[in-house]
Amino acid sequence: LVRAVNVTKSFGSNEVLKGIDLTVDPGEVVCLLGPSGSGKTTFLRLINQMETLTGGRIWVGGELVGIEERGGRLHMRTDADIARQRSRIGMVFQRFNLFPHMTAIENVMEAPVQVKRLPKATVRQEAERLLDLVGLADRAGFYPSQLSGGQQQRVAIARALAMKPELMLFDEPTSALDPELVGEVLGVMRRLAEEGTTMIVVTHEMSFARGVADRVVFMDQGVVVEEGPPDAVLLHPREERTRTFLQRVK
Ligand code: ATP
Repeated sequence: LVRAVNVTKSFGSNEVLKGIDLTVDPGEVVCLLGPSGSGKTTFLRLINQMETLTGGRIWVGGELVGIEERGGRLHMRTDADIARQRSRIGMVFQRFNLFPHMTAIENVMEAPVQVKRLPKATVRQEAERLLDLVGLADRAGFYPSQLSGGQQQRVAIARALAMKPELMLFDEPTSALDPELVGEVLGVMRRLAEEGTTMIVVTHEMSFARGVADRVVFMDQGVVVEEGPPDAVLLHPREERTRTFLQRVK
């Protein structure tokens, strides 16, 4: 579903990604681990076209991201085309990013109504189902300020799912939460994984990575240091850098 080949990204003279290769199959859950500043967020933002590539290629669902080949040449995609590509991907951020002036259900309904122009009644029904899925059926009419961080993050997940994405990207979705609220968000993510959702998850939650990921990818300083099944990477890392990182986060 996702293929990244030799992806590089620089901000000015700062080369943040130095040739990332990564493939994610449909239904796979991949956890991205690595120290702060290793480029994990930047990589997710490239997949979702919130940043543009410096070099390399990314395909999502078989389509080149940001550029297309026509008549043997590469062309930039149009804004409309980029918007179409982005609508296939759901993203959940560290901060909940809900619209503060809209209730939980209005937040979930916003994109399908505004972007997909679907009829409101249908969208509302689906939004109710999604709020139920994240355990918030009884909070539909609440505003973000009336919800806990964990509840807001679960609304954010429901909102991302409302566009029926083929791929979900999570960028440290629990790192801004009080410890006692982390479990409820991870529980929802675990359920999505069990349902076969394709997910790339940047996280420092090792137990989640061990229990839910099909594959763990450890990044440091803009490169993939090692990857493999969770137990292999987390319990028996081959690389010194992985070992040092794991000792610090445990
Ligand atoms: P964290 O866990 O702290 O989010 P990360 O692994 O996700 O870390 P990134 O957020 O991808 O790392 O950042 C990697 C590097 O890229 C950092 O040095 C950061 O300062 C730099 N960077 C990220 N975005 C920008 C930007 N828009 N402009 C300039 N530099 C940036």
